[in-house]
Amino acid sequence: MNITEVRVKLTEAKKNRLQAFCSITIDNDFVVRDLKIIEGYKGAFVAMPSRKLADKCPKCNSKNHLRSRFCNDCGNKLDDKRALGESRDESKGKFKLYADTAHPINSKCRDEIEQKVLAAYKEEAEKAKEPGYKPPAMDIPDDIDYDEDNTNS
Ligand SMILES: [Zn+2]
Repeated sequence: MNITEVRVKLTEAKKNRLQAFCSITIDNDFVVRDLKIIEGYKGAFVAMPSRKLADKCPKCNSKNHLRSRFCNDCGNKLDDKRALGESRDESKGKFKLYADTAHPINSKCRDEIEQKVLAAYKEEAEKAKEPGYKPPAMDIPDDIDYDEDNTNS
């Protein structure tokens, strides 16, 4: 697999752990968007695109994020313990609230993506220090929770 292009859009708020959004192009043919660069305790790492896991409200059947305490539609109080069900990620001993929508299936590929994306991120962060810096045009998801612990990787 050849990563032929990486685009990085830095996030505005510097205090957040979420540092940037990225897209990668594979073999000039296929784009994966919404990768994230997150500042972890051991340095920056790349999080794969993911979706929030949801389940249905027992009262009105609307879908709610597993972390929601009340139904978004009818306001019904939801069971705090429901995330303990099948979505629990045993290996990490914590609730799995997200599922990756695209991800490498071996560590060689993971390393390659991580190296290229982090290199592009550092380059972009350097460029951003220069006067007249123009961030790249890139769509970013509009439903991002900056404070969530989205650290599946
Ligand atoms: Zn409901």
